Amino acid sequence: MLSPFARNVKIIMSERGTQQIHLNGYSYSRRKRGCTVGRWYCTSHHSKGCRAFVRTVEDEIVCVRDQHTHPPRVNKWL
Ligand SMILES: [Zn+2]
Repeated sequence: MLSPFARNVKIIMSERGTQQIHLNGYSYSRRKRGCTVGRWYCTSHHSKGCRAFVRTVEDEIVCVRDQHTHPPRVNKWL
């Protein structure tokens, strides 16, 4: 099954070994590792108080709350 959120998505491994999702110009980092269900919070969660998040089940995105308190950083990944 192809998730409706699957367009424009990249899951990458950062240099520190943490997984990140890049979605529509925003990046999310994973809170727990090794679980079937993943919770990914916006990387500006702490610095900007952004409460956007992504939820995954077995690496499939099942829920996106993409109401950010800041603009996307699309250019960074071009
Ligand atoms: Zn955000």
